[in-house]
Amino acid sequence: MKRPLLFVLAGVVLVAVAAFAALQSVQLDTWIFRLAVHHAVASGNAKLAGVNELAVLLVGTGTPLPDVSRAGPSTLIAAGDHLYLVDVGVDCARNLQLWKVPLNKIDAVFITHLHSDHIGGLADVRLQTWVAGRKAPLKVYGPPGIERVVAGFNEAYAIDDTYRTKHHGAAMLPPNAAKLVAVPIVIPRERTTASVLDASGLRVTVIRVKHEPANPAYGYRFDFVGRSVTVSGDTIYDEDLARAAQGTDVLVHEALAPELVAIMHDELMAAARPRPAKIMHDIPGYHTTPVEAARIANLAHAKLLVYTHLLPVVPNWIAMRAFLKGVADVRPRGVKVGHDGLIVRLPGQSQTIEVGDID
Ligand SMILES: [Zn+2]
Ligand SMILES: [Zn+2]
Repeated sequence: MKRPLLFVLAGVVLVAVAAFAALQSVQLDTWIFRLAVHHAVASGNAKLAGVNELAVLLVGTGTPLPDVSRAGPSTLIAAGDHLYLVDVGVDCARNLQLWKVPLNKIDAVFITHLHSDHIGGLADVRLQTWVAGRKAPLKVYGPPGIERVVAGFNEAYAIDDTYRTKHHGAAMLPPNAAKLVAVPIVIPRERTTASVLDASGLRVTVIRVKHEPANPAYGYRFDFVGRSVTVSGDTIYDEDLARAAQGTDVLVHEALAPELVAIMHDELMAAARPRPAKIMHDIPGYHTTPVEAARIANLAHAKLLVYTHLLPVVPNWIAMRAFLKGVADVRPRGVKVGHDGLIVRLPGQSQTIEVGDID
């Protein structure tokens, strides 16, 4: 080997040995860690909505079926600086924290119905909004029965509350602020909608939907600065929902593809797994198909339909194509399949619809 080449090789080996030795150094490890933390904490809160803007962020688009890429059902509404959650599925607080959503600004939670997948994350939302600086009990609106749910979560976490206050002090974690407060909503029998909130320019309307035996079950419509978002909750095809969502900018609607669920049923039966097969047999009866949801969006003259609560799990584009079969025939435009982190911003008094990702 030529002498200059030997020198170069020796140099490379020396640099590699020095770099390896440096990486073993605890000082370098902690310096790199500090740089990473500095970058992470200096990047500020998530940008949700401007003061004159309504936005909807899909926090969780999953269902009770396990899916690593989708948290349990949860949707965040940002009306200017005020934040509201519709449903609080498992892992929704984790997503909100990862995205740096200012949890102390969550004014209230609206529960669509009392199925476990829609309330499973309530404990973490309760804790993390308190830790983030919430100074008063958190209101949880929902169908009758919400009092029992809220009382149960308050009771289950009462001991943990005392540990946290003792550890961090009452100035940081005031004990009276930890709790949830239930606000049951009753829609008069002869009506399908009712007003639940009218404050700071935001109007929230509750809509009766059909999800037997989870009864009553609700959707919610949010109107702010001349823009609106409607969230279906879990429901069968329901033209009352289309009437209540009339002219809405964004309709966030659940969807179940029956053909795919039927395939799952058949394969589970063939694999001698009758219990999950029975569930696949039962669930199409109380959900809406993607094509039906498109019809509802058309009847409502919704500008954008966003699918959420996707059943079954759609892990790739092939499954997604099967999931959306027939939708384009009914609604060729204005359809988006939701994913965790999808955000739609609606600037006030305009027709603009900005679709993007939170991070
Ligand atoms: Zn559900
Ligand atoms: Zn449900």
